[in-house]
Amino acid sequence: MAIREIIILPDKQLRLVSKPVEKVTTEIRKLADDMFETMYDAPGIGLAAIQVAEPLRLITMDLAKKDENGETKPKPRVFINPEIISASEELSVYEEGCLSIPEYYEEVERPARVRIRFTDLDGKVHEEDADGLFATCIQHEIDHLNGVLFVDYLSKLKRDRVMKKFMKAAKRAAG
Ligand code: ZN
Repeated sequence: MAIREIIILPDKQLRLVSKPVEKVTTEIRKLADDMFETMYDAPGIGLAAIQVAEPLRLITMDLAKKDENGETKPKPRVFINPEIISASEELSVYEEGCLSIPEYYEEVERPARVRIRFTDLDGKVHEEDADGLFATCIQHEIDHLNGVLFVDYLSKLKRDRVMKKFMKAAKRAAG
């Protein structure tokens, strides 16, 4: 396993539409392993392959919560070629962040519940209902596969402000 570099706004690769995974190969499993290591190291709760510059429809996620002893048992989950097949009319608001937009958080409104279809690492197709944080997180990550970022849901004023901030930071980093 290896920690990969997470690409950051305004990297144009974040706007790519990722390609479907045609077969769950050893390389795909290795990519998922690397993504978990990268995600836990960050730390984050979800990561799309494009965030490590691999334009493939692959997501890793771990929404494990602390138990009563304050310990967190990892609950790693992989979603390959995930799709939203239905969404509730009811909306919910969560404060979102993104490993590709570090240290920036804003409230985003999305469907409160979604039904998803995805393939697992054994190549099996599943359907599952998501609500709460899971619903928000899977929608955020599927957006990445389509080149969409959570800042796209903000007002133009807020979005312009955050884009400018990251453009400046990138310029400074480039010296
Ligand atoms: Zn993100």
